Amino acid sequence: MGFRLRLASFFVAVLVIVQGLTALLVYQVARQQLIEEGQRQLQVASAAFSKQLTDVSRRVADSVNLLALDYALRSAFAQHDEATLLSALRNHGRRVGARQMFAIDAEGRVQADTAGTVAAGARFPYPDLIDHALDQPASAVVAWQGGAQWMVVVPVFAPNLVGFVAAVLPLDNRLLVQLQGQSTLPRQVELASRGGDGRWQLLAHGDAPADLTRTLLTPRAQLPTLPRTAEVAGREYVVQGLWLDRSEGSAPVAALLGYSVDDALRPYRKVAFAWGGISLLGLLVGLVGAWLIARGISRPVERLADAAGRIAAGDYTLADIASAEPGGRDELAQLATAFARMSDAIREREARILHQAGHDQVTGLANRAATEVRIDHALASQPDTPAALLMIALERLPEIIKTLGHDVCDRVMRQAGVSLLEPARGAEIARATDGQFSVFLAHANRQTAIATAFRIVEALSEPYHEDDLTLDLAPAVGIALAPAHGTHAGDLLRRAEVALIATRGSDEPVAVYDPATDPHRPDRLSLMADLREALAHDQGLELHYQPKLNLRSGRVDCAEALVRWRHPRLGMVSPATFVPLAEESGNVRKLTRWVLATGIAQAGRWQDAGLAIRLSLNISARDLDDNELPRRVSELLTIHRVNPGGIVLEVTESAIMGKPDAAIAVLRRLAELGVDLSIDDFGVGQSSFAYLRRLPVRELKIDQTFIRHLGTSREDRLIVRSIVELGHHLGYRITAEGVEDQAGLDGLAEFGCDHGQGYLIARPMDGAAFEAFLAAGQWSGPAVASNGAASA
Ligand code: C2E
Ligand code: MG
Ligand code: MG
Repeated sequence: MGFRLRLASFFVAVLVIVQGLTALLVYQVARQQLIEEGQRQLQVASAAFSKQLTDVSRRVADSVNLLALDYALRSAFAQHDEATLLSALRNHGRRVGARQMFAIDAEGRVQADTAGTVAAGARFPYPDLIDHALDQPASAVVAWQGGAQWMVVVPVFAPNLVGFVAAVLPLDNRLLVQLQGQSTLPRQVELASRGGDGRWQLLAHGDAPADLTRTLLTPRAQLPTLPRTAEVAGREYVVQGLWLDRSEGSAPVAALLGYSVDDALRPYRKVAFAWGGISLLGLLVGLVGAWLIARGISRPVERLADAAGRIAAGDYTLADIASAEPGGRDELAQLATAFARMSDAIREREARILHQAGHDQVTGLANRAATEVRIDHALASQPDTPAALLMIALERLPEIIKTLGHDVCDRVMRQAGVSLLEPARGAEIARATDGQFSVFLAHANRQTAIATAFRIVEALSEPYHEDDLTLDLAPAVGIALAPAHGTHAGDLLRRAEVALIATRGSDEPVAVYDPATDPHRPDRLSLMADLREALAHDQGLELHYQPKLNLRSGRVDCAEALVRWRHPRLGMVSPATFVPLAEESGNVRKLTRWVLATGIAQAGRWQDAGLAIRLSLNISARDLDDNELPRRVSELLTIHRVNPGGIVLEVTESAIMGKPDAAIAVLRRLAELGVDLSIDDFGVGQSSFAYLRRLPVRELKIDQTFIRHLGTSREDRLIVRSIVELGHHLGYRITAEGVEDQAGLDGLAEFGCDHGQGYLIARPMDGAAFEAFLAAGQWSGPAVASNGAASA
């Protein structure tokens, strides 16, 4: 139910209830009052009625008294002259309005009757009246001839009592109407007599219907001599009865007076109608008023609710709210004003928050999230236009933070942000991370990007000054190019950062992203998953074998097993790629297990076939953390019945450097099994002979970088010769890997190196090819002969 309807209903309900209760109260009070008034009136009226009747009878008595003095009448009495009596009675009866006159002798016998209803000589029916009449005029109301009559009796003296005259006056409807006209008698006046059997008989009722007698004076009912209310013919009355003067010769006659409460209420009814009309009008006016007021309230409230909804949706155009109640001073207008003020505050705050969300507090530049959105937008709108993203780092910043704190760092960044503005004019500049800015050049090829990068470096190379502080910031810039290196801000930012990292190892402060050197290429992720698959199902992995030439005997008596992975999609993947991948993804132990199992099994088969080949297997640095490794190797040796001396395990020099004792213990246990340990890529790491002496190592493999230019580089010759001589003195076998030319091989033979390995001798090949290689004696002797000659 809406507000308007509720308010209107409330008004109506209150009005109706109040009016209804008032009406009821007024009606009850009025009715009660009228009843009391009726009772009073009836009391007065009955007294008045008695008095009227008495007056009438007295008047008649006086007239009859005059008649009694009439000479003719008196002499007629005395002479028993009936004719004269009758004529005198008729004359007088007419004068006083009597309907019947009697002449009665002194003994109470009727002498003459004008109506002839009583025979002459019969006894007068009301002797008690005759007795009373001797003292005074006697009268009574009697039921006579089917009606109520006043019977008035007076004595006649001549000069002694000669008889009586009785006049009968009808108390009929006409008289009642007449009496009512002369006084305040109520309209309902009925006369009734009660017979000896208790039945009531209606005698007169004026001009009103005779309802009272019929309804109230049922047989044996008592006359209500005190006023009381009664319902008669569906209407309410106050009634009161009174006995009229009676004669013993007649049934008693009573008057019943009725006061109609309904009639009395009639004027009130008009008032009630008027009141009802006024109420109805008030109700209508109230309804309309309530509706208008409710509308006056609910309209602005609805507008406010609507405005609140718009604010929720981010629309702050609320100009109409405050003006909704122009100049209004009521609560709603205040609310509207407060609301408008609130929405302004929200708008301001939101703008501020929005600004903060998209900007860096320190430099005031856009932040990474904001710039990414804009870069993406720009890239999407010009997909084929070359663009560039520059990632700028102040390499000294971490150091500055550590020594001088974040406040200085903030000021440095703020200053650097300002310095950027000039060289990166027109570009999208942002603070990408704590210590890095990004600059997006929407239209820039490689050359422009590099040129801008150098201008930026130049601008930021200016040292930062503060008080007596001078800081060199060491700026560096990584560049990623769109669309070549990515078409999304995220990719470009990441790749520019990779390029940035590349500057750290070089002298140039600017580097462009090079996919080939990116260790974080996304394809590596799927490659890791593929490698796990390959290892789990032993699919696509194989071992190739590269011969090692014994430079003394000129024979191939050793080989190095090198793992190969034939990727279902990418083809042959280099171990230089996937071994580090396996190390990173925690799969290298599985790989090593596979290599050891495959290699040792192969060694066992060759041993059984009578091929005396010592087989080198590579293990990774991570394998040295594997306590299980020695036991596994031992098991494999046992299973394949391989002589431990026929197996060499290669670990790179860097892998063993700085290893904890646990790793060294693994190496010792391996050595205890009888397998030989070899240090791979020897010479490039930082190991020393002093350190190596502590390890159970049998062989050193001089790294390829020293061998490749052995024919031409005097330095390399010196290094290699020194390693060979020193190694030999310390009891190590020496192998040189990466022998690609004859000069190198000759050099090695000259220095007394034990084994040579390299493409000159043979490339790594699969097991079958290797066996064929051995069988064919594919390494022919000349070089070794010269070696032998040289060493001889
Ligand atoms: P590494 O152990 O030093 O292996 C020698 C690498 O030099 C091999 O590359 C080999 O093919 C290559 N090579 C041999 N002679 C020449 C030459 O005359 N000139 C040139 N330029 N290269 C030559 P590959 O097979 O690609 O293996 C690369 C590296 O991968 C290996 O270096 C080794 O560290 C790792 N690796 C290979 N197989 C395994 C393995 O089974 N287990 C583990 N953990 N690492 C392995
Ligand atoms: Mg190796
Ligand atoms: Mg090597």
